[in-house]
Amino acid sequence: MVTLAVAEGKHADFPSWKRAFSTLAPDLDVIWWEDALQTPQNVEYLLVWQPEHGLAARFANLRAILCVGAGVDHLLADPHWPHDVPLVRMGGQETAALMEEYVTWACLSLLRETRTWAWQQERRIFHRKLVTRTAATTTVGIMGMGHLGTQVARRLRDFGFQVRGWSRRRRELAGVRSFAGQAELADFLSGTDILVSLLPNTPRTRDMIDADLLSRLPRGAALVNVGRGEQVCEDALLAALGRGHLSGAVLDVFREEPLSPDSALWDHPAITISPHAASEASRAEQAAYMVQVIHEIERGGTPALLYNAERGY
Ligand code: NDP
Repeated sequence: MVTLAVAEGKHADFPSWKRAFSTLAPDLDVIWWEDALQTPQNVEYLLVWQPEHGLAARFANLRAILCVGAGVDHLLADPHWPHDVPLVRMGGQETAALMEEYVTWACLSLLRETRTWAWQQERRIFHRKLVTRTAATTTVGIMGMGHLGTQVARRLRDFGFQVRGWSRRRRELAGVRSFAGQAELADFLSGTDILVSLLPNTPRTRDMIDADLLSRLPRGAALVNVGRGEQVCEDALLAALGRGHLSGAVLDVFREEPLSPDSALWDHPAITISPHAASEASRAEQAAYMVQVIHEIERGGTPALLYNAERGY
């Protein structure tokens, strides 16, 4: 029997975790983290999303920390974070499918300018603008061809978009044009109609989508940000939209979340906002994925989506 302490959500959420794990892994002792503090040395796995600083460090014998999100940058801001404990990011079919569908929706929304339709509907305006672009004549450029980026690329390709991907190392994928590193960034951007960020938040990606980068996109291009809010310089984005260099943006993540009611992004007629909702798997899927990870580690294996401190993601 191994022990998993749950430090996700509130205590009231714990019974649903307990239920989800009990059917999948009766061999797992699942316990609320505050109760586990009576004998913290007995806890082998810790499940987290946004734990208070210092919480993880209270468990000295952890074999792994399991994060129910794919982005773990916020965890590492904890000054007491136990960096020697393997940190596993969320994966699984449902997480990928949700992201694939969100990005496909965002690209189609930009092609059809559905933000304008919503604006017109509120005002009862029945105005039609001819749309001549289709997926086949639109190139989507994905920054970040990792676990999610490659699956999104495949889905967009199969839908009929022209797809190109950019990452640190070259990622070959049939039917997707591959670009790698700073040396190929300008070339990647110059042929991109819809730029999608699926980058992790690291010192290198912070503020990456700035005025210079946006200016390298063709006139009329659009942005979809599902990576992290810190990657986009909001002033540069608003300026590029203001002068018509960019035609629209779909934003799911923000520097400050929840997005402040005072933010200029809310009212912009070319910006669609979603509340960091692109991809969050169901509890059942999260539990199933974590059970797989625990079983793999218990068998002596290494889970695929391990945070790598050297890379920073
Ligand atoms: P991965 O770690 O699997 O992939 C990251 C990708 O980014 C890799 O291709 C990597 O390159 C590339 N990359 C990292 N740094 C750089 C850099 N400096 N220059 C160029 N490329 C870089 O992450 P996932 O695909 O699982 O997730 C990506 C991000 O998506 C998460 O970190 C999170 O922020 C966000 N996310 C958002 C969600 C939402 O609901 N909005 C939900 C889930 C995730 P390489 O291939 O060379 O390693």
